[in-house]
Order: sequence, then structure tokens, then C-alpha cells
Amino acid sequence: KHQENQTLLEAHGWLTKLYHHLLRHTKEGKDGYEHLVERGLTDEVIDAFQLGFAPNSKEFTMKFLENKGFHPQTMVKGGLLSYREDGHYGDRFRGRVIFPIRNHQGKTVAFSGRSVNGGDPKYLNSPETDLFQKGKLLYNFDLARAEIRKQNEVVLFEGQMDVISAYQGGIKHGIATLGTALTEPQAKLIRRYVERVIVCYDADRAGQDASYKAATILKKVGCDVRVAQMKDGSDPDDYIRSYGSESFRKHVLEAAVTYTGFMINHLKQGFNLNNEGDRIQYIERVLDEISKISKPLERDHYLRELAGEYDLSLEVLEQEIINRRKKQG
Ligand code: ATP
Ligand code: MN
Ligand code: MN
Ligand code: MN
Repeated sequence: KHQENQTLLEAHGWLTKLYHHLLRHTKEGKDGYEHLVERGLTDEVIDAFQLGFAPNSKEFTMKFLENKGFHPQTMVKGGLLSYREDGHYGDRFRGRVIFPIRNHQGKTVAFSGRSVNGGDPKYLNSPETDLFQKGKLLYNFDLARAEIRKQNEVVLFEGQMDVISAYQGGIKHGIATLGTALTEPQAKLIRRYVERVIVCYDADRAGQDASYKAATILKKVGCDVRVAQMKDGSDPDDYIRSYGSESFRKHVLEAAVTYTGFMINHLKQGFNLNNEGDRIQYIERVLDEISKISKPLERDHYLRELAGEYDLSLEVLEQEIINRRKKQG
């Protein structure tokens, strides 16, 4: 078992170098290079993240791994090769830009491959292995760690391109989950390093719902959660390409709202606020959130806001908070 992990690490190391070399210096990697250049990435950043290209071939990777003496079965387990329909082994990543997924020690343990010609799926990721557990790994944590400490803050993105774009714009304390919801182990790991987390997911509905879930988990493990909001339809990578990283820093990151501010807004989606019964239910939910705030001053701030907006008595709201906090113990 240990030997197998060691072998897989080695294979990932070789392929990281190979794919990166192909992308940077050969015509086999031209499609990948052009994709990244069109997206505005510099050579420096392509190198920093060791981005690569897996050629559109059935056995390019297979032959390479064979030559290095790797056993195909092990490579299939690690998701580097796959069984073809004819029963033979073949390349798993074909015609895709390769994002090496580094573990927290900086070693490649998986790949995420993005199609460059609109092929489905858009991203193909390595399967779970002993080395690569999606629910535990945070993309770019190895590179970002020092910067997270320095800035006493971390930015949580949805995708690896968001992390990389931000990095190119000088925002180097960004990390991401890989197309999966943030888990509690990931949140706890973050909390061990830093208190303040800015959740910066995509502006679409999926991104907003994911923000709600991530914010809830991060709050639960004791983070000071902020949620960044972008204009519709955009994601951080698009935003930075359109408006630049200075604007992103100023108008997105620095404008991030507090956890409670986000919740007050987000929860509205589930209710028809023109309906009396719905409105009361909504207010109850908001009170649940406000009651979780530990600082009295902060609680007071949101209670006044709520009282003002829905024409409620502050005394009654305060009593509601007292009742809830008693129950929470
Ligand atoms: P791009 O900018 O290259 O189009 P993105 O990062 O904006 O990609 P999203 O659709 O927002 O892509 O998805 C966020 C993340 O989810 C991706 O970075 C990727 O890690 C993961 N992901 C997206 N699509 C898939 C898929 N089909 N299978 C597995 N993971 C995926
Ligand atoms: Mn998205
Ligand atoms: Mn996106
Ligand atoms: Mn994107």
C-alpha cells in the first residue's frame, strides 16, 4: 500500500513535468498554451502552477509511463490511465489543459483536466485515492499558506482558474475546493491557520447556494466569515479579466459583507416577503442567525436594522434573542 502511494506520487511527478514541458515548448501542447494565453495568463504564472497539456492521443501518456516502468494497473487506480472499450489501457486525459493538484506539502497527487474544444465534461478530475481525498484537500494551500499567515486572511474560491487569476493579480492568499462543497475537515483545517475567511464564489445561483453552505460550515468552526458579492453571471476569474485585480480587491474583496449581512439577504430567497406568514417566518430565521452572534454590539446593529426594515419593536426582538440564546445554552 505504502509502496503503491510512493509509485503514484512518482508517476504524478513525472507527468506534471511532461505535460508542462509539452505545453510550454512543443507543438503538441499548442492548443493548451493558446487556451491559457487567451485567458490572459502569463508564462510566469503558467510556470508557477506548472500548468500543462495532455495531448489528444490514445496512448501518449501510456507509452511514456510504460517506458518509465510503471505498471498500468496502478496507473489506472490513480486515474492516470483508463481501460478502453477494446479492453486495452489508454490515456485518460486527452486534449486537456492539465492543472496539477498539489497536496499541502506541494506534491502533485491528482490532475484536473480542462477541455479546450468545448468537449464534455468541461473538467475531468482524477478519482479519489489514498493520496487524493477531495474532501480534505484545498487547492493551492501549499503556495498560499505563508501569504495567509501574513495577511491573516484567506480567500476561498470555487475553481482553480479563480485562484490562478487572483494570484496573477497579486492576490496570493487564495485557495479553492475542487468542484465539491466545502467539508467540515476542510473548514477546520482553514480555522487552524486563520480566522478571517472571505468566501468568493461565482455570482450564479449555484455559486450563491454554495456560498450559503460554505459560510454556514465556516461559521460553525469559528471563522470570521465574510462573503464577497459580484455582479450577475460572473466569476472571479472573469471579473479580474474584465475589470482588473485592483478593482477586484477594492470592489469585491474589501466590499465583502459579514456572515449575518449575507444571511439576511440570502434567506429572503426562500420566502415571499409580501405574504404576512412568510415574512414572519423569514424574520424568525434571521433572528436565529442574529442570536448566534457573540458580540452584543453586533447583535444590536442587526436587530435595529431588522426592526427598522420591517417596522418591528426592538424590545420584542431583543426578547426573542434572549429566548434563543437561553436555548443555545
Ligand atoms: P472555467 O473558467 O475554466 O470555465 P470555472 O472554474 O469557472 O471554469 P465552474 O463551472 O465555475 O468552472 O466550476 C468550478 C470548479 O468546479 C472548476 O474549477 C472545477 O474544479 C470544478 N468542475 C467544474 N465542472 C466540473 C465537472 N464537470 N466535473 C468535475 N469538476 C468540475
Ligand atoms: Mn461555478
Ligand atoms: Mn466559475
Ligand atoms: Mn471561470
